[in-house]
Amino acid sequence: MVIISTGQGQSRYHDRLDALAHETGGAAMTRPVQVGGTRVGGGEFTVVAGPCAIESREQLLAVARHVRAEGASALRGGVFKMRTDPRSFQGLGTGALEFVDEVRRETGLPFIAEVAAIEQVEVLAAHVDALQVGSRNMHNYYLLKELGRARLPILLKRGFAAQLREWLLAAEYVVEGGNESVILCERGIRTFESETRNTLDLAGAVWARQHSHFPVLVDPSHATGRPELIGPMCLAAAAAGLDGVMVEVQPKEKPALSDGFQALSLERFTTLARDLRPILVALGRDRAEAAVSR
Ligand code: PEP
Ligand code: MN
Repeated sequence: MVIISTGQGQSRYHDRLDALAHETGGAAMTRPVQVGGTRVGGGEFTVVAGPCAIESREQLLAVARHVRAEGASALRGGVFKMRTDPRSFQGLGTGALEFVDEVRRETGLPFIAEVAAIEQVEVLAAHVDALQVGSRNMHNYYLLKELGRARLPILLKRGFAAQLREWLLAAEYVVEGGNESVILCERGIRTFESETRNTLDLAGAVWARQHSHFPVLVDPSHATGRPELIGPMCLAAAAAGLDGVMVEVQPKEKPALSDGFQALSLERFTTLARDLRPILVALGRDRAEAAVSR
C-alpha cells in the first residue's frame, strides 16, 4: 500500500498531505509498527535507549540491563558509525554483532542499529530488529530504495537540514519500495542557535504525525546535545502525544567514544524513567498500566 501517492507532482502531494491531516483533525491515525516484541505507535509510549556506539560487551550489557530494568522498550547502539571527523571512532563494525546477539537474548528487547550503506543492510538485518537511517543519510535515496526491499522496520531520522515534507517524501521512498514499516524520528535541525547542539522541532514532529500514518519518535540526545535538557524534552514529547523517544545512555565511569558529552548516565536515565511514569499514567500510556488493564 502506498500511503501517499507521489506520482502526480509536488503540489498534488502537498494537497494530499493537508487533506490527510484535515480529514482526521490531526487526530491519531498512526499505523503501529512492530519492532520485535515492541509495538511502536499503538498508544503506548516507546522508550528506546542505549549507547551512541557499541564499544564493548561490558558497556553494552551494563546499559542494556539498566535501561531494561527501568522500563525501556527497545535498545539502540551504533555498529557502523557516521562520524563528522574521519579520525574519530567509527564503531566496532561487525565485531559488535555478537554483543548485539547477546543483549537481545538476555533482555528480550528488540535492538535498533543504524545502517550507513547499502552493503550493510544484509549483515545488520541478520542481527537486529529495525534499521535506523541516520540524519546524514536521509537524502540517500538509493539506500532508501534498498530499504524498501528489506523485511525489517526502518527508523528514519530527519535530515538536520530537511524540511518536513522532504522527510515524509524520504519515508515514501521506503514505502514505494514495498516496506510500509516506517517510524519517523525527529532529531533536531540546524538553526542559528548554538547553545544547543541542534534545535528540537517538536512542532515539526507533531506536524509529521498529523500528516502521515507513521509513528513519530523524538531524539532529544542529538537535538539538544545536553543531558540536562533531555529529560524535559522527553516529557514534552509524551505530553505532545508523540509515540516515544530515543536516548543515548552511557555508564559515567567510562566516557563514550562517540557523543559522550550528551550521554545520559545510568542515574539520569533512572530519573527520566521516574519522571515520565506519572505523565504516562495520567495520559493512559504507561506500559505497565496498560498491561494491567488489558
Ligand atoms: C545516532 O543515533 O547515533 C546518530 C548518529 O544520529 P543522527 O543520525 O541523528 O545524527
Ligand atoms: Mn550519537
